[in-house]
This record gives sequence, C-alpha cells and structure tokens, in this order.
Amino acid sequence: MTNEIQTKTELMYSQVVSSVKQGNFPHGVLVECQNTVDGEDFARFIANTLVCTGDNKPCSVCSDCIKAQGKGHPDIFITDGIKGKSKNFTVDAIREIRDDAFVVPNESDKKIYILKNGHNMNEQAQNAILKILEEPPSYVYFIIVTESKSTMLETVLSRVQVFSLLGNEDAFTDKEAQAVGGMVKALLSVNELALMEQTAVFQKNNQFAKSVLVLLTEVFRDALVKKSGFTRNFRFNDETNLICNNLTAKAILQLISICNELIESIDRNCNNNLLLVRMCYELKRAIGR
Ligand SMILES: [Zn+2]
Repeated sequence: MTNEIQTKTELMYSQVVSSVKQGNFPHGVLVECQNTVDGEDFARFIANTLVCTGDNKPCSVCSDCIKAQGKGHPDIFITDGIKGKSKNFTVDAIREIRDDAFVVPNESDKKIYILKNGHNMNEQAQNAILKILEEPPSYVYFIIVTESKSTMLETVLSRVQVFSLLGNEDAFTDKEAQAVGGMVKALLSVNELALMEQTAVFQKNNQFAKSVLVLLTEVFRDALVKKSGFTRNFRFNDETNLICNNLTAKAILQLISICNELIESIDRNCNNNLLLVRMCYELKRAIGR
C-alpha cells in the first residue's frame, strides 16, 4: 500500500468518526472496494462507530463496542443476501431486511445493516433496496459493500454517500482538476463558445479527456447526492454545488449517461476531433441548451 492510499483511507476513517459525532452520518452508504474483506472491515468500523456510546468513538471499551468488535452486536446485521441456490443478492432477502428494519433496535438506539456483495444485486434487488433508502426509519443505517460503484443504479447512487477504498485510479492531477472546473463553468455558461474553447485542452489527447470525463461523472453523481439532501464536503465541492444549484436531477442524470457514452467511445479509439465536437454538442443538449 502506498503512502498516498494509506492517507486517503485514514482520512475516510476520520471522516466517519467526525460525521457520527456530529450526528449527521448518512443513512445510506456505499463502500466501494476491490477486496471485499477490506470493504467489510470498513463497514464494520462504521457500524461500530455508530453504536459506540463512549466519547472517543469507537472507544473499544463500552459494551456496544465490545459486542460489535466480537461480531455479536444484536443491532448490527451483516448479510450477503444469498437464499437457497441463488448466487445473487436476492430480492427476497431485501424484502426481509425491509420488514426487519421497521422493528425497533434491541439494545442500541441504532440498527445497522451491512449488505455484502452489492455487486451481486440485480436491478430488481436494487430497486427494492431503493424503496427503503428513500425513507429509512430514523434509527436505520444501510452500508452496501460493492466491488465497484458502477454496479449500482444511478438512482441508488443518488441516495448514498460513497466511500471508495479503491487505490490510485481515484487520485487526480492538478491539470485534471483544473479541466474539471473549466468544463463545469463552460457547461453552465451562457456563452455558446465557452465549451468549445474549454474542450481545446483535450485536443489530440483522448486519454486526458477520458480521465476528466470520469471525474466529471463523479461531480454529477455527487450533485445528485446533494440534491437528495446530503451535505458533506465533496472532492469537487464548488463544482458539485454549481451543478446541484443550476441543473435539474433529470438533466444531471442525462449528463452522466452522456459522459459514459463518451468514455465508451474513447475506449473504442474514436477520432479525437469528432469526440470533441460530440462532447460539446451532447453535453449542451443534455441540459437543454
Ligand atoms: Zn464504544
């Protein structure tokens, strides 16, 4: 593990603690992690921090911490949703969880469900979980662990805060950050030519365009999260706010799907000039301009 990743992971752990202390920890969380064991550990850490009754959370000495760390806390549920012969996270398992979620906690004032292998949830299962993510009982927290957030529906992603334990691919350069800022401003600008001028930085460089499109998708996703009422510091906070405040959820969803299409065409080795023309046209069209 490089220092950079370690620092990022440490940062996420401290983010969890401070948000639990402030009492604004989100009721829906997605843990993205290549290694499901690490993902589960992080999910357990969140659950432990949530139930801890000590001051210095997680204190490791209160009875809730002891039970949580011994994997025997009666209000922390962990499941891979497998029922019978199915290898998938079944919709039946989610329905059971939904029913159970409305029963008040046993000992803690919170109830936490860790749903492992979110990548095994099909669309039906995800829609079932979405229903309760939209209006969870006040004491309920869901932590979905998945190999990649791309396995989840946009509607689900708009209801959860993503904690990504993925490594280097998440880091970005100053040049990329600058391009993301420029793209967002140009997209919202009334100046027709702004976007065309901005996309000039991608000339002859499809891979740079791709990395910026990936980051833009993150901004759009975060803007949707913000629209559904979560307030936190996003990696591109200013850009996320601009998108959230100026565009409808429908337009943002449209932008995400355009970015995905553009990324796919880069992966298919499309012509750079055509890509830039399409980027300007499709992005503006997505927001109805
Ligand atoms: Zn404790």
